[in-house]
Amino acid sequence: MTVRDPGSMGHAKPMILIVEDEVSLVTLLRYNLEKEGYRVAEAGDGEEALTLVAERKPDLMLLDWMLPSLSGIEVCRQLRRKPATRDMPIIMLTARGEEGDKIRGLNTGADDYLTKPFSLPELMARVRALLRRAQPVPQKGMLSWGDIVMDLAAHRVTRADRPIHLGPTEFRLLQFFMQHPGMVFSREELLDAVWGPDIYVEPRTVDVHIRRLRKALNCDNESDIIRTVRAAGYALDAESAA
Ligand code: CA
Repeated sequence: MTVRDPGSMGHAKPMILIVEDEVSLVTLLRYNLEKEGYRVAEAGDGEEALTLVAERKPDLMLLDWMLPSLSGIEVCRQLRRKPATRDMPIIMLTARGEEGDKIRGLNTGADDYLTKPFSLPELMARVRALLRRAQPVPQKGMLSWGDIVMDLAAHRVTRADRPIHLGPTEFRLLQFFMQHPGMVFSREELLDAVWGPDIYVEPRTVDVHIRRLRKALNCDNESDIIRTVRAAGYALDAESAA
């Protein structure tokens, strides 16, 4: 596994906020994150997490599901409602392994999800991948498709001149589709292109992010620009752009 110097991703070392009430796990996570060069803040419950997010402006949050006061789900929901934290990368940690909970966690707005007990290298790989995804790659130019315009430099999306707010993963997904209009991509191909080949994410995760992207793009009941191709994957729909 290649270890990227987190310091090379920006001027300051990324700040990771650990929100977890299990003290031994916090200690373990802090030790390993600091060893990789991250700055670390910690909160033991949901209320404290919200306060610390406002004060320390973390670059990424590791958020436990089961917390005293506010649950991880509720913290996530609140952060996604505010413009300042709408795009903050969040990895949900949980002891529950059921598929329903997982999808619920992602639907609340988490970017990734790990079931306890997880391996530390796996966690670190996901932290790096998500920070990379959230880091706007310096790019120029505009992409357009039908009434959708992406300004890559400003990291802005509009549909029919109405601003569209997308999370980091949805932004990359849309960008990838718009760079390859009409082409059909399987879930695995989308995972490689958007999440990166070095990370294992379940293919169903793609469906959740596609759903979020669709919801963001179609909030005015416009035509759906993403076509689901049965047993094959997804594509930007040629007809909807006409
Ligand atoms: Ca807990």
